[in-house]
Amino acid sequence: MNILVINCGSSSLKFQLINSESEKVLAKGLCERIGIDGRLTYQPEGGEKEQSDKAMPTHTEAIQFVIDALTNSETGVVKSLDEIGAVGHRMVHGGEKFASSVIITDEVKKAVEECNDLAPLHNPANLIGVAACEELMPNTPMVAVFDTAFHQTMPEKAYMYGLPYEYYEKYKVRRYGFHGTSHSFVSKRAAELMGKPYEQVKTIVCHLGNGSSVTAVLNGKSVDTSMGLTPLEGLVMGTRCGDIDPAIMEFIAHKEGLDVDGVMKILNKDSGVYGLSGGLSSDFRDLTDAAVAGDKKAEIALEVFSYRVAKYIGAYVAAMNGVDDIVFTAGIGENDDLVRRQVCSYLEYLGIDFNDEANTDLRGKEATISGPDAKVKVFVIPTNEELAIARETLALI
Ligand code: AMP
Repeated sequence: MNILVINCGSSSLKFQLINSESEKVLAKGLCERIGIDGRLTYQPEGGEKEQSDKAMPTHTEAIQFVIDALTNSETGVVKSLDEIGAVGHRMVHGGEKFASSVIITDEVKKAVEECNDLAPLHNPANLIGVAACEELMPNTPMVAVFDTAFHQTMPEKAYMYGLPYEYYEKYKVRRYGFHGTSHSFVSKRAAELMGKPYEQVKTIVCHLGNGSSVTAVLNGKSVDTSMGLTPLEGLVMGTRCGDIDPAIMEFIAHKEGLDVDGVMKILNKDSGVYGLSGGLSSDFRDLTDAAVAGDKKAEIALEVFSYRVAKYIGAYVAAMNGVDDIVFTAGIGENDDLVRRQVCSYLEYLGIDFNDEANTDLRGKEATISGPDAKVKVFVIPTNEELAIARETLALI
């Protein structure tokens, strides 16, 4: 069966059509600038990438262009919509309502809408994507796969904040965690590489991308993760600050004459390695080049980033009373030799026997970067959230 995987943002929509038997991507692409003007990028398997400007006033037109591209007589990969058996939607926030993926029904949509407060930028956009697909493919089953679902196994001691309990009762203020689809996907693969049952391994996953998070996976279940109520907590990220003293917010507000929204913008968009590097870049390729060329702020930004990752790994070794394997994934985790080397330099006490040669020039390939005698294995495993969504979708329908 062919499964269309949709990741819908407020003005963009990424898609992949995946064959569930071969797990091959038949075609993929992106609609951008929805509601502004509109641009479609489309690439069939083994074919040329095409880009065209198309008027996309709403997500419905965007989905229609996706369907047209997929069924195009020359560059399409299916003859008709009948060859698309299901749609898997990435959903950002399922709150406490969703501990696993679900078939989308009216009740599910209502429940997702009730979580909008927790992800005001993402959830409404995800639901718009669902509505657009329903309009154009009314008879195709749809599945919602939540970023937060994998972390619903965390115990209270990991998800409760040291705040008045009533905020949890009234507003569900607690740690939720994100990137769950990725953490689940790579930790399962790591268990395969370890040759052990998933239910018997202690894994720490470092999903290091523009947004970054670390998760402790104990016997196949997330027991702690670094992102919180929102994706702002935890690691230092591309432009997000991660953990800071909360009193800094008031301090900066007074000094800079900012309101809450102004401070939040700084913490979300102007901080992280971008802010630390003096606004140089949030991209680790630029930062590494600059650091090699002697830029002190870029060097500090990279060191702060790696040190924070290492501290979280240490914390999660404690949380699980040990660790069997550590996994690096996502844009930085899969590609950045320097960051992996820096993080691993803090982990020799675990007996990882870091193999620098194996760590070099991986370019997105799966690898073991610990040595043959390592007590704790270290893997680089490319994440594939779209494939994970397609698998979940197939399993449910
Ligand atoms: P993601 O959010 O997982 O797509 O990761 C995006 C980030 O990965 C970019 O902002 C870069 O900082 C980083 N990245 C991508 N490719 C490389 C590379 N070849 N070397 C270092 N960092 C990379």
